[in-house]
Parts: sequence; structure tokens; C-alpha cells
Amino acid sequence: MPTSIGQSHKWQERKHLQSTPGDADQLKDFRLQVLTQLQTTLDVEQILRIFHAELQQLVPLAGCDYHLPGQSISLNLGDTGRHRCSYQLSLNDEDYGEIAFTRNRRFQERELTLLESVMGLLIYPLRNALSYRRAIDTAMIDPLTGLSNRGAMAMTLNREIDRSRRHHQDMSILMIDIDHFKALNDRYGHLTGDDVLRQVARLMDGAIRGCDACFRFGGEEFLIVLSNSNLPLARLVAERLRQTVYNETRSPDPNNPITVSIGVAHYENEVDWPELVNRADQALYEAKQAGRNRVVASHVRSVDGEWLL
Ligand code: GH3
Ligand code: MG
Ligand code: MG
Repeated sequence: MPTSIGQSHKWQERKHLQSTPGDADQLKDFRLQVLTQLQTTLDVEQILRIFHAELQQLVPLAGCDYHLPGQSISLNLGDTGRHRCSYQLSLNDEDYGEIAFTRNRRFQERELTLLESVMGLLIYPLRNALSYRRAIDTAMIDPLTGLSNRGAMAMTLNREIDRSRRHHQDMSILMIDIDHFKALNDRYGHLTGDDVLRQVARLMDGAIRGCDACFRFGGEEFLIVLSNSNLPLARLVAERLRQTVYNETRSPDPNNPITVSIGVAHYENEVDWPELVNRADQALYEAKQAGRNRVVASHVRSVDGEWLL
């Protein structure tokens, strides 16, 4: 098993080093070229790919790793080599993660000086891309529950519907609504209501598979996208979620457990997501009419008039 031999550096904004006087012109052209390339995107991974590829002209490298735990970013590009040199990136005391280059041949002093001298090219484009990523993430998250919001839901539904249509894959959605939530708010106050919303969100998000997604649709309503799920499976998941909420949510009133009603709809070639959501909504309405704390699935008639399950 190869051992990794580390050479670690701290890169901070400062005057760039130059390697040898003879390299100065070449280095200037190189800088300009890299900067132009890096300015073509706001995608963090793309920026690192460009930087890694461009650096090959200067110093032969195998792999490039980038980690920023604060934003849950961990990227490994190329192959991993035995020798490693890493840079801690920071600007005005702000941490922008660690970048490491690896290869199987030891890094020479001159190469390290070259690498360090161009590290400054990365920091501003990277900082901009990270800010952009944070802004997008924030815009897609519901601050109360921490779930993705309706904007993110529309994007996911468009993508999933497209995938189902192209690959003839099953896909189902669940529309979930907390029962008698207004009464709970009126009796125990909004903050208690908020706590119940957070609990239900956490329970449901924790009970679905990694490939599924739970969104706050609005108010006390949630929507779950179940990829690769036919109607019987979606009903099963819905029933499990209903029971989980009933059994595990801490209710402020011990005599009245928190319950949810769930409408299920399987994707049946609807033109767009609002049409599919509409069907789940109708099933949810039926669940409410039938007495709440239950699951109702939307059924579709086939061309020959049979009910499809
Ligand atoms: P049903 O069983 O028919 O669904 O009745 P319901 O009382 O749950 O439904 P209704 O639509 O009458 O009331 C929903 C309530 O949810 C009203 C609104 O004040 C409350 N609500 C919406 N968003 C929030 C929120 O972010 N926090 C809190 N605490 N309450 C909210
Ligand atoms: Mg509602
Ligand atoms: Mg409700």
C-alpha cells in the first residue's frame, strides 16, 4: 500500500513569488490564460477541473483533491499519487478549504515554488463560486424546517418527470398535510406549532431513502418525490410515514397525537408537474373527507376503462 508523503503549505493573499527570471514572461501568459479560463464558470467543481488541467502545463500532476467541510464539499479529481502537496486556502481570515495535488514522483523545490506562485489565481474565482453556491443553497432551503423548498421541488419534479418519460421509469409523489393543525396553533401557540412542523419534517426526511426527496410545499404541507416507485410501493411508504408520524411526534396534547393525511399519485405521463401534484392533492382531499390520519391513492383509468393500480 503506497504511503502518502505530505508537503503542506499555507496559501494566503500575498505578493506572488516568481520562479526564475527566465520564466517570467511565460508565467505571465500562463496567468492570463488561467484567469480567463477560470472566469468562464461559477461552478466549484468546474473551476477546480480547469485549474487542475491548466496546471499540468506548469507542473506534471496526477490528482487534485479539494475539501471544504463547512460547505460539505469534497472533490477528488484525477488519480491519486503517492506524493502530495497541499495548500490551505484563506483570504482575509476566511477559510476557503484545502487543495492538494498528488503524483507518484516527488515534488521538486522549484515546482513547489511555481505551484505556490499561481495558487493566488484560484482564490478569487473559487471564492465567487463558493458564494454563488451558498446563495443558491440558501434560496432553496426552507428556514423553519431545513427542508428544501417549493422552488427546489419544482426543479426536482421537472428532472424526475423528464427521467421517467425518457426511461419509462416509475415515479410517485406523496402530498402530506398535518391534520387539524390550525386548532393546535390556536390552542398552544405558533411556537409549539413550529416545533411540531420541525419534528414532522425531520421524521419524514429521516424515514425515506437517499434517492427520494422531501420538500416543504407550504404551511403544514409537505411533498415527497419517490423515484423508481410504482403505486403499491408508494402506498406502502406513505403508510409507513403515517405511522411514524403518529407514533413518534411529541404532541403537546397527550390525548391528541399528531397525525397526517397523505395523498399518493403515480406518474402517468402527465404533461407537467402541477398536473401530477393536482392529482395527489385530490387524493389528499379524499383522505381528509374520509376522516383524516389515512392514506389515499389516486387511481387512473386505462384506455380500456379499467382502474389501474
Ligand atoms: P386539516 O386537517 O383540514 O388540514 O385542517 P388544518 O387546521 O390542518 O388546515 P388549515 O389549512 O385550516 O390550517 C393550516 C394552519 O397552518 C393555518 C396556519 O396558520 C398554519 N401554519 C402555516 N404555516 C405555519 C408555520 O410556519 N408555523 C405555524 N406554527 N403554523 C403555520
Ligand atoms: Mg393544509
Ligand atoms: Mg392541515
